Amino acid sequence: AFCAIRPPGHHAGRNVGMGFCLLNNAAVAARYLQARHGVGKVLIVDWDVHHGNGTQNIFLEDPAVFFFSIHEHPTFLYPGTGRRWEIGKGKGEGATLNAPMAPGAGDAEYRTAFERTLEPAVARFRPEIILVSAGFDAHRDDDMSDIQLSTECYSWIMKKLVEMANTYTGGRLISVLEGGYSLRRLPELARNHVEILLNG
Ligand code: ZN
Repeated sequence: AFCAIRPPGHHAGRNVGMGFCLLNNAAVAARYLQARHGVGKVLIVDWDVHHGNGTQNIFLEDPAVFFFSIHEHPTFLYPGTGRRWEIGKGKGEGATLNAPMAPGAGDAEYRTAFERTLEPAVARFRPEIILVSAGFDAHRDDDMSDIQLSTECYSWIMKKLVEMANTYTGGRLISVLEGGYSLRRLPELARNHVEILLNG
């Protein structure tokens, strides 16, 4: 996973074993909710443009935590994992879902993935809470990747998740800021995101 705590100099991520981070905020939150708040099934949606390899590994064999990651295809972007056939292991088989996007993909491809890939899976899984690894580095003005999301599509995605939360989790949704390196775009993206959370 690519969390907010990002060690300087580790951008290339060599030998770190996961993303850009030391701690996986979403994973800690999921386990905390289960241990302290009696939450059973957790859905983690990771739309950071890099695959959430840390989160995937942590919950690979865990059927109670459904992990969905949408990211630029691993052939083209670090960390090189997150192919469609990575679906979990053992008891966790089927509780990992990867949607790798080809370079140049944008709003249309993302909308299709959320509607046709994620939504049916969520309907089957029926989470009790949704955690969002909200990475804004798939924006077309962020030079981290070749994914071309618009600001409007980020809002569309977030509204979609709030809708899912209202349907399945009684509105329970927690969002964690992940990547996002366009200083020109991050303010509007973060503002829209929080507005949707407040109004959802
Ligand atoms: Zn990222």
